[in-house]
Amino acid sequence: MPERIIIHVDMNSYFASVEQQANPTLRGRPLGVCAYLHPRGCIIAASVEAKTMGVKVGMTLQEAREICPQTVFVQNDPTKYRAVTSRLFKILHGLSDTIEHYSIDEAFVDLTGWARDPAEAAFLASRVKYRLTNEVGDWLRCSVGIAPTRFLAKFASERQKPDGLTIVNAENLDDHLSRVELEDLCGIGPRIHRRLKRAGIRTPLELKYHPIGNLMRILGKNGFYWWSRLRALECETLSLGDALPKSVGHSYCVPDRVNREGNVEGVLTKLAERAGRRLRAYGMLAESISVAVGFRNSHEYVGDWSRFEQPVNDSFSIVRQTSRLLHGLRKNEPVSFLAVTLGELSLPTGQMRLGDLEDGSQKAATTNTQERFHSSLFALRESGDIRVSKSVDSIRDRYGDSSIVFGRMFRLGDEAPDRIGFRKIVGSGYEG
Ligand SMILES: [Mg+2]
Repeated sequence: MPERIIIHVDMNSYFASVEQQANPTLRGRPLGVCAYLHPRGCIIAASVEAKTMGVKVGMTLQEAREICPQTVFVQNDPTKYRAVTSRLFKILHGLSDTIEHYSIDEAFVDLTGWARDPAEAAFLASRVKYRLTNEVGDWLRCSVGIAPTRFLAKFASERQKPDGLTIVNAENLDDHLSRVELEDLCGIGPRIHRRLKRAGIRTPLELKYHPIGNLMRILGKNGFYWWSRLRALECETLSLGDALPKSVGHSYCVPDRVNREGNVEGVLTKLAERAGRRLRAYGMLAESISVAVGFRNSHEYVGDWSRFEQPVNDSFSIVRQTSRLLHGLRKNEPVSFLAVTLGELSLPTGQMRLGDLEDGSQKAATTNTQERFHSSLFALRESGDIRVSKSVDSIRDRYGDSSIVFGRMFRLGDEAPDRIGFRKIVGSGYEG
């Protein structure tokens, strides 16, 4: 069996770089991306310049300002990051049919059979870097690791930041291991670290050359995994299929001003619309929809659901159905909570996979040209509502979330802002 070739692509200082890409006046400056713009708000990403000054992820704005007073802060904007991620992943899907979306800024690609050797993989990786800066954004950089296993590919990408390209193989592995600490290995948390230290294992190389029997006594079956990982033996495969969600939804704790200003339906529309957009990004259709409402005075929660006549993913059908359900549930009482969930998700054809995302006419992960032809036909037959919804998506990708909205969302302003889970698989499941 030929040696496997896995690459791991990891964007450098991702959220901060995307912000600097979008706003050139932020480039070259220490920048902190925050969950909230408040002195006690937390920094969730820092630009390369900020990191050099000692600003770290997890600090509060106040702490960062003390260390580096010229730091600029911006609030995080998940829509922007997801849009860039989907463009990066689209490039990666051109390399192989086996790709794992690991987090919003990281992916593994199995190049076994697609590249002859690690050198060719390095050539393909350098092309990814070229396309990233030329087609997505010239301020964006990524680090790439190439190795025979998933674990070592991630280890390799961490060796050089930013803009790294590192090949790790059986020959140079010990050299790389000799230059890191145990805690630098992905998966060695404080607990495992303590146990290893107690057993007299202080470095990655000592871990690698420790007798396997002993290691298993210390760490159980994990001992076997660590023994394999550091010998470039594969014990994890790329996880692919489970990347598709079973439902997508959004919820929001409604502040009182929304009731006062009569914007309840507007907020719900925004949540429904956003769920629809994520559904389209997955290239999926929903068969059912549910709405939940919480009431402020009675502390009561009610919910209802219904099924679409046929699977849909356009904003119009989703919003129409959401309003219908809301009207059935509403009482003469202020609302404290709203949620929309799209369920019973499916792909338009049995063969299409995540790779065909937004548009069925793109290179499909189908096995033959005939199927590919059918998926292009499907794309051609799309209804006007779907085409309008997708056009709206691209306008927002380009000009921001508020550039084009439904009439009833007009007065909303910043109500129900988009949130993103840190280190979460892109858009998976339920988000705030
Ligand atoms: Mg990263």
